[in-house]
Amino acid sequence: MNESLYVSPLAEITTLGEDKIAMSVVGRRFTVEDKVGMLKSILDQAAQGVQLAALTEAMADSFPPEAVEAAVTALVNARVLVRDDARAGGDATHQHLQHRRELDALIPRDQLAAYDRANWLLVLAGEGACADALAEALAEMSVPLQRIGRDGELPSADIVGDKRALLLVCSDFEDFASFRAMNAKAVERGLASLYLGIDWSTVQCGPLVMPKATACYECYFHRVRSTRKFVAEFDVRSKPENILYHALPSKLAIQFGVAEASRLALQYLSGTLDDLHHSVFSEIDSLSGETHRSRILRLPRCACCGNASTARPVGTVFQQSLLRRRA
Ligand SMILES: [Zn+2]
Repeated sequence: MNESLYVSPLAEITTLGEDKIAMSVVGRRFTVEDKVGMLKSILDQAAQGVQLAALTEAMADSFPPEAVEAAVTALVNARVLVRDDARAGGDATHQHLQHRRELDALIPRDQLAAYDRANWLLVLAGEGACADALAEALAEMSVPLQRIGRDGELPSADIVGDKRALLLVCSDFEDFASFRAMNAKAVERGLASLYLGIDWSTVQCGPLVMPKATACYECYFHRVRSTRKFVAEFDVRSKPENILYHALPSKLAIQFGVAEASRLALQYLSGTLDDLHHSVFSEIDSLSGETHRSRILRLPRCACCGNASTARPVGTVFQQSLLRRRA
């Protein structure tokens, strides 16, 4: 235990009277006696990061090294002390995600490195206010991001490599044409993708597509189209060349869209499966806050992900675990 230890960003520590300390780590709360003040001085020093050797030396006058080591081990086991200084960034998002993933325990230990933030690649396709707001929010949350334009080329296979990659396609309106084009590219490459559009004051987010394992955007599009009463009019109106002016998106809707899409992106990238809405289309009315989620089934004969194309094998380990979970 010679690396530096820090107080976990998920830990809340308070004193109860003179000689008791209450500690909570994401909802789990316990109290400990601290009659001699040993825990307080360990926690004080760990705020800036401390090594066990330095700690035992600093406390040698008052406490035997075995006692200090035992207390530090107990704090590490209780997750009050952790090995990295995640407090420095002032954001506990990634620690919460990691914590939830550990609760899930669906990902084998030897595969965890693949879900590490250093291994992520988020490709953001699209232009406009919504794409800009998303890029800014994701950069704030230190998500490695590469932007490409509307209908842009996906990064080459050697850039994606073994990275945990997600394509996020984003538009200030219901851009069927670009969403379908990007979906076709992503499914062909076996790249997971997510779609976010703003329709006046409503957010349309989804589906989160895992090629061949879940419904893709093309499946969604054809299912929507088949529910339209006037299919011919729908076809004409959804062509980009027939639209003279797009409605101006609501800034409030953009905030809801940024929140929903970044939640899904972070959950997918970090491997946190709890309530991950794959194969789900979400509509959020930003004025009433009402969220409507509908499940989208795969279209067996889908031109992108259906039977007609067998170019790619079905599913990664992650996708298979999702499917098992759904069954
Ligand atoms: Zn499909």
